[in-house]
Amino acid sequence: MDILVAGGGLCGTLAALALSRHRLGVTLLTGAAHPQAVPAATRYSYGGIPWWMGVGDDGRTLSGQGLTCWQQLQERHGDLGLRPAALMLHWSAADDNAAVEAAVEAFVASLSPGITPERWERSAFCQGDLQGLGLTCGGAIRLPYGRMDGRRYHKAMARVLGSQGVRCSPGTVARVLVQHGRCIGARLTDGALLECDGVVVATGAAMASLLPLPQAFRWFPYSWASVLPLRQPQPCPEVILMPLLGGRERMERQGRAGLVVDPGLAPWDGGVVLGQATCLQHQSRLPDSPGDPTALSLPGPWQPSVAAARLRQALAEWAPGLAAAARRQQATVRHCPVSYSPDGRPWVGRCPGVQNLWLFGGFRGGFALAPVLAPVLADAIAHDSNVAAELGVRPDRVLERQDCPCPAPQDGARRSSAS
Ligand SMILES: Cc1cc2nc3c(=O)[nH]c(=O)nc-3n(C[C@H](O)[C@H](O)[C@H](O)COP(=O)(O)OP(=O)(O)OC[C@H]3O[C@@H](n4cnc5c(N)ncnc54)[C@H](O)[C@@H]3O)c2cc1C
Repeated sequence: MDILVAGGGLCGTLAALALSRHRLGVTLLTGAAHPQAVPAATRYSYGGIPWWMGVGDDGRTLSGQGLTCWQQLQERHGDLGLRPAALMLHWSAADDNAAVEAAVEAFVASLSPGITPERWERSAFCQGDLQGLGLTCGGAIRLPYGRMDGRRYHKAMARVLGSQGVRCSPGTVARVLVQHGRCIGARLTDGALLECDGVVVATGAAMASLLPLPQAFRWFPYSWASVLPLRQPQPCPEVILMPLLGGRERMERQGRAGLVVDPGLAPWDGGVVLGQATCLQHQSRLPDSPGDPTALSLPGPWQPSVAAARLRQALAEWAPGLAAAARRQQATVRHCPVSYSPDGRPWVGRCPGVQNLWLFGGFRGGFALAPVLAPVLADAIAHDSNVAAELGVRPDRVLERQDCPCPAPQDGARRSSAS
C-alpha cells in the first residue's frame, strides 16, 4: 500500500514516521518547493511539550503521554531534539488578582495529582538568570516542562525518515484527486500526478484549501501568529515564558475576529524567539493556489504590519531590554498561519465523505499530542479501521457550535472528480 503524506511540519513528519513502522510505502511531500506553500507554524514554534494534555476517551487513556512518547522515539532513533525545560506562566502587576488566582487554581487542577508548581513573586524576576531578561512580570508559576529544539528536530527527522524508507520530496500538493468518492492520488504544483492508495493531509493551516469539500475552510480555521526572532542566546536557555491569562486560546475558542498579544519567549535556533501576536479574521481561507507567494502579503483583514507594530509595542513594555536588542539587531517580525480547532480537539482520522483521505492537524498542544496520536492514525490507515469516536473527524461538532447551515460533506465529495 502506498501512502502520500502532505506537509513537512510536526504533524506530517510524525505521521510519515508512524506509517513507516507498518511497512507501507510512504512518500512525504514537505511543501518546501519554491515558491513555498505557506510558512510552517512548526518553524516558529516554542516547541514546548504541555505533557499533562490529552484527548480521546474524555482525556483518560491518551493523557499525559507526550513526553514519554518523545523519549521512546529518541530511544529508537537517537536525539531528535528533546530538551529539559521549565515553563513559567507569568502575569502582570496590572492583571486582576482574582482572575490570576482562579487561573492558577484551574491550571493546577489540570495537572497530575502531586504536582505543585513553584510560585514566583515579582522580586524573583530581579534575581539570578532571569534578571538578565529585564522582564516586567508581576509574578509567575513555574513547573518542569520539556521542549523540542526545532533546528535539531528537522535535521534529525530528515535522517530518521530516510533511514526508515520514507521518500521525502519538496513537492507541493496542488490538488487532492478524488474519483467516485475515493482518493486516488494528488496533483503537484509542478504538474506531476502521483497515484497512491491513500493521502494524509497534514498541511497545517493549508488543510482546508486541499480538501474537496464545500465549506472546508469553515471547519478548519487558522489564525496568524507573529513572532520576533533574536540572534542572541537567551540568558536562561531552558526557560519558556508564556502568559497565564493568554488571549489567543480564548479568541480561537470564541471564533471572535481580533488581534491579541501574549508576551512570551523561548529558546530558538541558537537565539531566542519573542512572541506572540495572534490575529484571527473571519475570512478563513488561505490562497487557492498554494505556492503563490504574493497571496501571503495581500492587504486584507489580516495586516502583517499592524500585527508587527502591536507585538513590538507589547514587548517594549514587557521586556524592554530585549525589545531594544531587537531594534539594534534590526530583527524582523515573522508571520505564519497556525491551524486550530475551535473546540480544542484535533482533526485525526478519515475525511468525511472521501475514502482513503485522512486528516491530521488542528492541534492545541501539538507537541504533546501529535506524537501520541500519529501511531493511532497510522494503525487506522494500515488496518483500514476507524479511530476512536472521540478522535474521529466530525466537522458537525464545530458547525453545530457555529449554527452553520452547511451542505452535507458527502455531496461535495461526490461532485469532485479527478482530473
Ligand atoms: C509562536 C508559536 C508558538 C507555539 N508554541 C507551541 C508550544 O510551545 N507547544 C505546542 O504544542 N504548540 C505550539 N505551537 C503550535 C504548534 O507549533 C503547531 O500546532 C504545530 O507546529 C502545527 O504543526 P503542523 O504540522 O500541523 O503545521 P505546520 O507546522 O504549519 O506544517 C504544515 C506544513 O505543510 C506544508 N504545506 C502547506 N501546504 C502544502 C501543500 N499544498 N503541499 C504540501 N505541503 C504543504 C507547509 O509547508 C508546512 O511544512 C506554537 C505555534 C506558534 C506559531
